[in-house]
Amino acid sequence: MTIATTNPATGETVARFTPYDAAAIESRLATAAAAFEGWREAALEDRLAVIRRVGDLLDERRDRYAELMTLEMGKLLQAARDEAAKCAMTCRWYADHAPRLLANEAVEVEDETAYVAYQPLGAVLAVMPWNFPFWQVLRFAAPSLAAGNVGLLKHASNVPQCALAIEELFVEAGAPIGVFQTLLVGSEAVSELLDDPRIAAATLTGSEGAGRSVASAAGRNLKKTVLELGGSDPFIVLASADIDAAARIGVQARMINNGQSCIAAKRFIVQDSIADEFIEKFVARVEALVVGDPRDPATQVGPLSSKQQQTDVDLQVRHSIAAGAKLLTGGRVVPGPGFYYQPTVLDDVPPDAAAYHEEVFGPVASVFRVPDADAAIAVANGSRYGLGASVWTNDMREAERVALAIESGSVFVNAMVASDPRFPFGGVKSSGYGRELAAWGLREFTNVKTVRIRRRPGGGSGTQAE
Ligand code: NAP
Repeated sequence: MTIATTNPATGETVARFTPYDAAAIESRLATAAAAFEGWREAALEDRLAVIRRVGDLLDERRDRYAELMTLEMGKLLQAARDEAAKCAMTCRWYADHAPRLLANEAVEVEDETAYVAYQPLGAVLAVMPWNFPFWQVLRFAAPSLAAGNVGLLKHASNVPQCALAIEELFVEAGAPIGVFQTLLVGSEAVSELLDDPRIAAATLTGSEGAGRSVASAAGRNLKKTVLELGGSDPFIVLASADIDAAARIGVQARMINNGQSCIAAKRFIVQDSIADEFIEKFVARVEALVVGDPRDPATQVGPLSSKQQQTDVDLQVRHSIAAGAKLLTGGRVVPGPGFYYQPTVLDDVPPDAAAYHEEVFGPVASVFRVPDADAAIAVANGSRYGLGASVWTNDMREAERVALAIESGSVFVNAMVASDPRFPFGGVKSSGYGRELAAWGLREFTNVKTVRIRRRPGGGSGTQAE
């Protein structure tokens, strides 16, 4: 397993790291277990002061962290700054709202003091992807640590400097030693980590394959998991939609993060009557995109994160064309150093094409033409994924009907899908299970405990069936 920083804009490997050996892993597991005993007992306001300070430091160091993200995985520098800012905002959101969301919930029962309490589980192993190298970690860590858990991060092997910077960030924000640690290990170490009794639970954001493997290792140990996996989000454009707006936001929704977002719009499902007009406007905008150095403010689409990623996307495009999809624009690796791929649009993608049934993690849009809203719903739900969906229509009754019929963790009408700490985020079907963000994310790694204290001893309480 290679843990290294390779700049996707140049293809150059600029730093290599030695994976932690057994002794280093053991020492961090022991430190996490010891830290949990103190952190769970700390006053909530003290824990939240650390989370708030993490947010402040993210703001202060936005440029530094943005440089690191762009260096290691190639996102546009401005997008990386925005990512750091969103992490900071989310830390503040939890610092403000966790007292209410973690408070005991009283239940009215005669002669009893009865309530539901949210208590931490222990050390949570976070297996994270490179595509939003700060956001994915912070959206897990801010709520989980606020609830009193401690975190062990196994980050993607191509973003080790981001992983170490996040560990340092927590320490400098005042988190006691062991409350948040990075483990520089490859994916082959994860299964054994899940066998260790000092790991209480795990969260994984990543591909479907990684999800299956983490879920089985956690399952054999009866440990709770949250899985945020891939997506092939539909972007449905119906006859009454504002076509200009749909084409403009559609391009943004597909190309965000150089096409490497789990909730990027990947399948454009367009009603026949407006399909030609939409596609013409969409393709014109795709062809106008500026591809280039992610550090140049004029660039709109930067490189893919790795050579492998570039090869995989190219294979999926070639396979889809061979299966009968029509190439409207793009479709090639950009020659030269760096891992660039031309922004691409495929039309009439047949069901046996890779772009129909697989997630394409790059700047490639697939178009499907359908006769009506029901057919659009059927194509949208025909995917094994169910993360997000975007629907474009000016008919509000149709909007709600379609929104509720789509099998996904979120649906946005006349807007692109985005995460927000005020709302739960996650998927159904092969996009995973469990939720991050909002109250749901805060409580995922808690013991939801029933406490019933009878003021006068004796007698039964409530139903006895169990
Ligand atoms: P990935 O290859 O699955 O890697 C994600 C993490 O899992 C990395 O830390 C990786 O470690 C580890 N990993 C890989 N295989 C594993 C295994 N068999 N057992 C245990 N750990 C394993 O995914 P990626 O290429 O980094 O990220 C892209 C994927 O993530 C896409 O499918 C995307 O849709 C999904 N994603 C989902 C969300 C969401 O919220 N639902 C958000 C972002 C991304 P190594 O790097 O060491 O291999």
